[in-house]
Amino acid sequence: MSSNTPALEVNDLHKHFNELEVLKGVSLTAQKGDVISMIGSSGSGKSTFLRCINLLEIPTSGDIYLHGEKIAMKPGKRGVPMPADQKQVERIRSRLSMVFQSFNLWSHMTIEENIIEAPIQVLGLSKKEALERARRLMDKVGIYEKRDYYPGHMSGGQQQRAAIARALAMDPEVMLFDEPTSALDPELVGEVLKVMQDLAEEGRTMIVVTHEMAFARDVSNKVLFLHQGLIEEQGHPDTVFNNPESERLQQFLASSY
Ligand code: ADP
Ligand code: MG
Repeated sequence: MSSNTPALEVNDLHKHFNELEVLKGVSLTAQKGDVISMIGSSGSGKSTFLRCINLLEIPTSGDIYLHGEKIAMKPGKRGVPMPADQKQVERIRSRLSMVFQSFNLWSHMTIEENIIEAPIQVLGLSKKEALERARRLMDKVGIYEKRDYYPGHMSGGQQQRAAIARALAMDPEVMLFDEPTSALDPELVGEVLKVMQDLAEEGRTMIVVTHEMAFARDVSNKVLFLHQGLIEEQGHPDTVFNNPESERLQQFLASSY
């Protein structure tokens, strides 16, 4: 694969839930190291878009390429598409880590156990290798002292940093974040954004759905504004935030500060 093959390419993605068309043709290209923020009102389809990328939802149509590899689809029941190759789905998912608003840590496992689980089960690392990796990552996100805690005994900010460490432990090619700070008390938002900013500066490829306009403006190199299932406007954050063309984006920004 040539070096300018995009890390992630999505072409004309559509998603229907029965009669409801939630995504009406959304395309995105992320080069390696891109940090793309997706903004837009509640219900505009941001989560559905991320969930389609890692196949938590199956797109109704459209193509997805991860580093040039196309996710193969075939017609399923009543002509509804489904993945053609379940092994490929698992492989693709392991290269795309998602961080959710609600952390989604396993509550019956310690933080360290949470982080080593998938590297052992999916990547086939030995326990020793997985532990080394987990400890390095817990240190990186500042939760090493909490490694033997259960998620329920940690603050939301600590849990989300643990969830980011868990995502990083898969050494993903692209990280997907779905409003990672929206469930946090305001005083805990900054510590999570700081970790994400560090990842961006290290050159991680990230797609971030966020209501944190300062993060979108200062950290990302591209911003997409989604409105009713379509990209209404996109561009460099300086342009999108300082010179929005679309009236809807102007209204959205006015209501977001
Ligand atoms: P956002 O993340 O931008 O708030 P979502 O992607 O969550 O938007 O939702 C977009 C629209 O899709 C909403 O109208 C929502 O109700 C609908 N939707 C999302 N998931 C489902 C589902 N599994 N079944 C039916 N409708 C859904
Ligand atoms: Mg959402």
